[in-house]
Amino acid sequence: MDEPDRKGNPLLARFTRTSPAPFLTKTYSKYRSHVRADFEQCCAYCHRHEDWAGEEEVFEIDHFRPQDKFPHLISIYENLCWSCRACNGRKSKSHHWPTYGQLVEGSGFVDLCADDWEQHYEILPNGNLKGLTKQANYTIKMIRLNRETLVRLRRFSLAYNVSLDQEREISFPLPPLVNT
Ligand SMILES: [Zn+2]
Repeated sequence: MDEPDRKGNPLLARFTRTSPAPFLTKTYSKYRSHVRADFEQCCAYCHRHEDWAGEEEVFEIDHFRPQDKFPHLISIYENLCWSCRACNGRKSKSHHWPTYGQLVEGSGFVDLCADDWEQHYEILPNGNLKGLTKQANYTIKMIRLNRETLVRLRRFSLAYNVSLDQEREISFPLPPLVNT
C-alpha cells in the first residue's frame, strides 16, 4: 500500500499502533520490537529517527501515561511509545505530567498516535521548534525540545534538506553531540 499523503491530510496521526495489540503480556518490555515498528524507529517526542540519535540502543519504551501515576497501564500496549533516552528521561519525571487543570485547558503532551506532527509544530529557520498549540508548547517546555543538540540537528537538516524522521543516508555523518 502507498504511504498516506500526510500533507494532504493534516489530521492524520503521525504514527499508527498495531491494533489489536500483537499479543498479551504482563511484561511490557516484550513489546519492544512492536512498539519500535509502530513508531517507525522514531522518537515519539523529538521525532528523530534512530539513525539521527545514534542507534536503537539509545531508545527506550516510554509510558505515555507515566507508570507511577497510572500503574494499571504499565503493560497496556496502547500506552507505550518509542522514545530516545534523552526525551524519555525528561518526560518520565512524575512532576512533568500535567495536572488535571492543565489537561482541562487543553495542555499536556502531544500524542502523535492521535495527531499529526504538523498540527502542533513548525521548524523555524534557526532550528528552533515553534509550538502551534498548547500541547506543543507544553511538550517543548517539559521535554526541552529546543535543547541545543536538537536545534543544531534541525539546522543541519534544513541546510542539507534531509528529514530527521527518516533513515540517515550513509553519506551524512552525524553532527557532534547528537546523543543528548
Ligand atoms: Zn527524543
